[in-house]
Amino acid sequence: MPIPEIDTKYLITTLTILLNTPSPTGYAQGAIAAVEEALRQFPGLELNRTRKGALVATWPGTRNDAPRGLTAHADTLGAMVKEIKSSGRLKLTKIGGYAWNTVEGEGCTVFASNGAKVRGSLLLAKASSHVHGSQVNELKRDDDNMEVRLDAPTTSAEETRLLGIQVGDFVAFDPRLEITNGFVRSRHLDDKACVACLLAAVKALHDAGLQPSQTAILHISNYEEVGHGAASGFPAEMADLLAVDMAALGEGQTSDEFHATLCVKDSGGPYHHGLSQRLRQLAEDNGIPYVVDIYPYYGSDGEAYWRAGGDVAVALIGPGVDASHNYERTHLDALVATTRWVIAYLLS
Ligand SMILES: [Zn+2]
Repeated sequence: MPIPEIDTKYLITTLTILLNTPSPTGYAQGAIAAVEEALRQFPGLELNRTRKGALVATWPGTRNDAPRGLTAHADTLGAMVKEIKSSGRLKLTKIGGYAWNTVEGEGCTVFASNGAKVRGSLLLAKASSHVHGSQVNELKRDDDNMEVRLDAPTTSAEETRLLGIQVGDFVAFDPRLEITNGFVRSRHLDDKACVACLLAAVKALHDAGLQPSQTAILHISNYEEVGHGAASGFPAEMADLLAVDMAALGEGQTSDEFHATLCVKDSGGPYHHGLSQRLRQLAEDNGIPYVVDIYPYYGSDGEAYWRAGGDVAVALIGPGVDASHNYERTHLDALVATTRWVIAYLLS
């Protein structure tokens, strides 16, 4: 069956909404709600939230003897307030695996416990070249040397507390989205790009009046960046699980911003060979631009489900994302390739 047309405008619009909805792990409910709102437009999908806060959409297929899962995550890297300093500035603790230099100078929002949203930016504690000279270059970017400068009149811990800010408040870094010549440059393309691909796949099938060949479980997880996102939330009768997450680019990698990648091994070891072979064949049969790759420092929600005891075949595909867990970038070509691959899998 030919793959129906992808509505790229919808894909980009949906991705833009998701990227502009802050959702650090542990505080991802806004993005989960945005996905729920988007999926509600497609009758026939049954929507549920897990107790942990993930979104699970069940889409009846023409058959139901081997249900298929697909998962992508709506949570992102971020931080929490670790300490309020005597200067009124904030010391943070990171959520997820990244280096402080990747967000140095970035705008951020603190979600205060009283409901206020306080803007600020993440800076080196000794940020001014005119005051600290060579230390601006030399200071190690660690938890002690980075701080949030709040865009609010405070010069003491007391004044910061009066803004409503407390230890444990979530902090989200600005996505800084820009789209040029098909390139999508933004933080948090990991993994909102793939959530948008899943939604575009649902829309393409829906618009073409098609349904999955097997009942599909779309699982939008909210704790992936800390390793246990999709550990739960699937029915026991599910036969296989396709994790849809960004591909890692760089020296020695086959992945790029114009292809979708089949990852056959990452830090968690090899993925399921049989399911990986099926996906390879689907890409070949449908002319989907793809490469096969191995990611040296990477774990996925598919493995989270395996580690939790999930007895299913697991494979991983996704669009190439440059500078992952940094200021990321991909191209529409990779997003369309990933979406088409998801559709081919759903129809197979
Ligand atoms: Zn990811």
